[in-house]
Amino acid sequence: MTFRTLSEYFEELEKTSKRLEITAILAELFNKAKQNEIYEIVFLSLGTIGPNYESHKFNIAEKIMIRAISRACNRKEGDVLSKFKMLGDLGLTAKEFAKKTSTSIRQEELSASKVFNLLTEIAKASGTGSQDRKISLMAGLIKNLDSNSAKFAVRITLGTMRLGFSETTLIEALSWMKQKDKSLKKEIEAKYRIYPNIGFIAKEFKEKGVGGIKGIEIEVGVPILSARCQRVSTAEEIVERHKKSAIEYKYDGTRVQLHIDRAKTLKDEDESLLKNDDKTFVKTYTRNLEETTHMFPDVIEAVLKQVDAKSVILDCEAVGVDPKTGEFVSFQVTITRKRKYNVQEALKAVPLKLIIFDILYYDGKSLINTPFSERRQILKNIVKENNKVSLAPEIIVDNPKDLLNIFNKSVSSGLEGIVAKDLNAYYTVGSRGYAWIKFKREETGNLEDTLEPVVFGYYKGSGQRSKFGIGAFLVGVIDEKEDNFKTLAKIGTGLTDKQWVELRERCDFLKEKEMPKDYVVPKGLFCDVWVSPKIMVSIRADEITVSPIHTAGYALRFPRLMAFRDDIAPKDATTVEEIKKLYKLWRT
Ligand code: ATP
Repeated sequence: MTFRTLSEYFEELEKTSKRLEITAILAELFNKAKQNEIYEIVFLSLGTIGPNYESHKFNIAEKIMIRAISRACNRKEGDVLSKFKMLGDLGLTAKEFAKKTSTSIRQEELSASKVFNLLTEIAKASGTGSQDRKISLMAGLIKNLDSNSAKFAVRITLGTMRLGFSETTLIEALSWMKQKDKSLKKEIEAKYRIYPNIGFIAKEFKEKGVGGIKGIEIEVGVPILSARCQRVSTAEEIVERHKKSAIEYKYDGTRVQLHIDRAKTLKDEDESLLKNDDKTFVKTYTRNLEETTHMFPDVIEAVLKQVDAKSVILDCEAVGVDPKTGEFVSFQVTITRKRKYNVQEALKAVPLKLIIFDILYYDGKSLINTPFSERRQILKNIVKENNKVSLAPEIIVDNPKDLLNIFNKSVSSGLEGIVAKDLNAYYTVGSRGYAWIKFKREETGNLEDTLEPVVFGYYKGSGQRSKFGIGAFLVGVIDEKEDNFKTLAKIGTGLTDKQWVELRERCDFLKEKEMPKDYVVPKGLFCDVWVSPKIMVSIRADEITVSPIHTAGYALRFPRLMAFRDDIAPKDATTVEEIKKLYKLWRT
């Protein structure tokens, strides 16, 4: 397939926000794609060139792109800049100028795969002279594309291509491609959860159907979608559901999925080699599937010594420790360890302790369908605890009184609460199940739990706060069924002056000309400045109420900003279903 044809599909996708239409267009596109190009086409449609857990950053700033467009289209940089200021989108800017460039200089019709390879080359260019190389490769690419294709190539490279769907819709479209309905969604999704490489799954599925993807198994080096907790309102309900639970403290650190394979070695160019001189294959991932290995050399060194396994995948929480007192530090301090640079200084200031609470894979075998009590036993056998690595201590309870005792102890020692784990349950990959139930400081009657919505945009405001250029902002939650975002609250109070300024600056950096098409917003709540769904926040409120206005169907009473949550991704935002559940919980 040519990149021109692919871009025509993108153009069609861009025009609609109707889920069924998007699915049908994608299904047709995947049908048309050849076996040897579907991997590339799937990722390009998501505006990227590979799965999250492999780093595919282009590192091309707008300034650099302006230079590339100017070179490709034979225009002065100043002209490109003025057009960009007018249109607010470098994709559209490239389209405008490419239209006017003589087509005679286009030597060949580029295939989608060829463009994918060129984009990969651009992303990979690093070291001295890499900026120039990126500019010349990008200029060469634009020169060889028709105007519509240039628009999308530029957007992909800048990370601004958002056609308004996620992997969820792609999975449905794959089912439609074969069955003309979504009957195979469950099977495809189950594989995606243990092997979240949608391009690879699409390729296997296109070639061999459901039978073909059956063989996809957990692999060290490919993160698994993490299990999440459910909530309930009483200790009695936990005991009713689990009969016997293992109660662990809920630590307020950062989730780490740790992969080790002692039979494999890391590649020379791998950043995780920094502290791991014997090249043992070891990697860590966040809950958003991003690789973080280079951030945690202290933890890795310890785990390699303390865990006795040829290959293993561990589910853990890394918590910062105060080097003077040995006590756990707050979440805000722990996340200062999530950084690319000055890692050595940071690990002295905030050493981490790794608390291991689950094992998903051990010596070549998946454990996700093994009961928790057995998984825990394996952990006990293979982990030698020390001051850097420990197992989450747990106590088995079968009555609400004992459970509440542990809960109270956790709260009085400054922790968030507890997680109750069903001893017989399998690991609930990528979803919230009752296998794990979190119980937090909620009994005061107020909505003590925080919500993690996405910022949609802001209102300029008037009066007192107009000096900040922002008076209120709009947040929303994910509707997983429809694969879009619905509004939940307009927030105009509870921020410090500093937070208002920070929020406005963050929004201005990500601002969009129009409302992103996967936002469902009632007319009366349209923002003055829209942003793409990237800014995550923690919100606390007094109550959840039913709302005839907000498209989520619910609203918040007295919502206030607790923190910016750079550690989670929009796809981890609170969902409409969770709000519904919380509403019911706090009513009872
Ligand atoms: P929260 O804001 O309550 O952490 P969340 O939606 O981010 O909620 P959940 O899946 O509901 O995440 O809660 C589980 C989180 O709690 C995990 O992501 C993990 O980082 C953390 N955690 C801390 N201690 C434990 C533990 N003992 N077992 C499981 N998860 C734990």
